[in-house]
Amino acid sequence: MGNGINSGTVGRKLADSRYSKFILYVSFVVSIFFIILNGVISRRFGMTSFSIGKMSIPTSGISGCVQAISVAACFVMVMSDYKRGAILSMFSLLFSVFGIMQGILKSGSMASLPGLVNCLLYAVLIIVMYKQLKASDYTAATDAATGLPNRYGFERELENRLHSQERGYVVYLHVGGFQDLNVNLGRKYGNQILREVSERIGSVMGNKGEVFKIEGAEFAMILPEGVDYSGMILDMVERIEKPIEVTKNGVAVNCYVKADAGVMDLYDRELSADEIMLYTDIAMNYAVNSSETKLCTYNEDLKKQVARETEIEQLIKEGLREDYFYLQYQPQYIMDGKKLRGFEALVRMKLPDGSIVSPGEFIPVAENSDLIVDIDRYVRRRAMNEFKEVCHDAPDGFAISVNVSAKEISNPTFAEEIITDIHEIGFPAQCLEIEITEYSFAQSVETTISNIKELREHNIKIAVDDFGTGYTSLAQLLNLPVTLLKIDKSLIDNIESSEMNRDFVKTVIYMGHLMACEVISEGVEEESQLRLLNQFDCDFIQGYVWSRPLEYAVALGMCRSKERVRVS
Ligand code: C2E
Ligand code: CA
Ligand code: CA
Repeated sequence: MGNGINSGTVGRKLADSRYSKFILYVSFVVSIFFIILNGVISRRFGMTSFSIGKMSIPTSGISGCVQAISVAACFVMVMSDYKRGAILSMFSLLFSVFGIMQGILKSGSMASLPGLVNCLLYAVLIIVMYKQLKASDYTAATDAATGLPNRYGFERELENRLHSQERGYVVYLHVGGFQDLNVNLGRKYGNQILREVSERIGSVMGNKGEVFKIEGAEFAMILPEGVDYSGMILDMVERIEKPIEVTKNGVAVNCYVKADAGVMDLYDRELSADEIMLYTDIAMNYAVNSSETKLCTYNEDLKKQVARETEIEQLIKEGLREDYFYLQYQPQYIMDGKKLRGFEALVRMKLPDGSIVSPGEFIPVAENSDLIVDIDRYVRRRAMNEFKEVCHDAPDGFAISVNVSAKEISNPTFAEEIITDIHEIGFPAQCLEIEITEYSFAQSVETTISNIKELREHNIKIAVDDFGTGYTSLAQLLNLPVTLLKIDKSLIDNIESSEMNRDFVKTVIYMGHLMACEVISEGVEEESQLRLLNQFDCDFIQGYVWSRPLEYAVALGMCRSKERVRVS
C-alpha cells in the first residue's frame, strides 16, 4: 500500500512536470537504443569475454547491464506518463524479446534465456505499476464526497483542452449556505446535500459537458462550443435552489442552498489555464455578491469594474489611515411646521487630488469586504464628537442618525461597542439613532434582535431604513422595539402616479403609529409629495424639497439658529 502511494506520488510529480513528454520520448529512445546495442554486443561477441587489466568481464555481464539500462528507461516512461509510458514500455520489451528469440533461434544456444525471462518479468512489473498508478491517479483526481473529478482532474483537463486548441466555456458554480448546513446538520448530511446538488447538475448537463468538484462548495464545468450555456446554467441554478430533503433522526428536513455561476468563454487562445481559472473565479464572485444576477460572464467591462473595485478598496484602506473621509449632514424636519428634528450623517470620501468618490460607489465595495465596519465606526464616532455639545442642550427628540451595515448589527458585540463609545465620547444616548436596513433581519435574526433590545435599554433610537424595499413585514416589526420607520425614496417617487404606492405609504404610516413608531419619508423632492404625506400624517420629512445634505459648519449653524425647536 505504502509503495503504491509512493510510486503514485512520484509518478504524479513526474507526470505533472513540464518536461514529462520530453522525458517520455527521450526514455523511449534510450530504451530502444540500448536494446539494439544489446543485440549487437550479443551477436558480435557471443560467449567471449572482455579484459580490463587483470579483470575479465563476460559478454553476458555487459549484456545484463545494457538490458538493465533499457528496462530502467521503461520504468521512467511509465512514471512520466503511465498510459503512453506503459504502451511504449511494452513495445520496447516486446522488441527486446523479439531480438533475444531471434538470437536463440540463430545460434541454437539458450545462453540468452535469463534475458528473456527478465523481459517477461519486467513486463508483468510494468503492468502492475500501470494499474497502481491508474488507481492512485483516480483517487488523486476524484472528490470523495461526490465521486466527481476534483480540482486536480479539472486543471489537467483544462490544460489538455488548451493544448488541443478546443473552444468552449469554463463555468464555476458556487453553492452558498452550504457551510451553515454543514455546521447545523453535520458533515454527513452536508455531503448528502452536495451529492444531491451534483446529481441535479448532472441531470441538466447530461453528456453535453464535464463536471468537476473543485472546492468544498464549488463545482467547475467544461462545456463545448455552441452550447446554450446561459439557459443551461440558469436551469441548473433553479433546480439546485429547490428544497433538498434530508432525513435526520427520522425527521425529514427541507434544506435550501443558493447557487451562483461565473463563465469564461475560451475564445482567447492566448490565455493560460491559471488566467482562465482566475477570471472565471472573478465572474463567479461577482455573481455571488450581486443580488441582481445568478450568472456572470467574464468580459472586458467586468475586468474594468473589478479593477476599479480593487482600486476603491485600496482607497478606502488608505482613506481610513490618511483621513480621506468626512461627513455631510442631511436635515430631517418635523412635517408640522418644518422644524428641525435632527440630521442623518452621510459619509463622503475626498481624495488628496480633491476628487470625490460617491458613497454609491465606495459603500457597496466596503460592504463586500469588512471595511464597512471600520467606516461605520469612524462615521459614528465622528458624528458623535461633532454634535455632542449641541446635543447636550438639545430639545427632546433631537437625533443624529447614523447608518449601520447589516454585517455590523448582526455582530454579537455591536451594542456593547456602541455603549462604550457613547460613554467614552460623552454623547447623550437618547440623541443617537441607529439606522438599520430590513436586510439586517435576514443576516442573523436573533443577534440583531438582541442588539436592538440592548440599545433600546440605553435609550438609543432605532430606525428601519429603506423601509418598503425588502421583505420585512410590519407584523415582524411589531415584536421589535423599533422607534422610527424610514419610508424609502422609491415609494415616495411614485406616490402620486401609483395608487398602490400611495395606499402602501398611507398604511405604513397608520400601522407605524399603531406600533408606537414614528414615521419619516425620505427622498421627498416635490411640494405635491409633501402635501400627500401631510394628509397621511407622516411625522418627519427628509429630502431635497427642504434640504440637501449640508457641510458640518452649515448644519451646526442651523442648530444654533432659531430653527431648532422642541419636539414631542
Ligand atoms: P441612505 O441611507 O438611504 O441615505 C439617503 C441617501 O439619499 C443619501 O445619498 C441622500 O443624499 C439621498 N437623498 C436624500 N434626499 C434625497 C432626495 O430628495 N432626492 C435624492 N435623489 N436623493 C436624496 P448618499 O449620501 O449618496 O448615500 C447613499 C447611500 O450610501 C445611503 O443611502 C446609505 O445606504 C449609504 N451610506 C451613506 N453614508 C453611510 C455610512 O456612513 N454608513 C453606511 N453603512 N452607509 C452609508
Ligand atoms: Ca440611511
Ligand atoms: Ca434610506
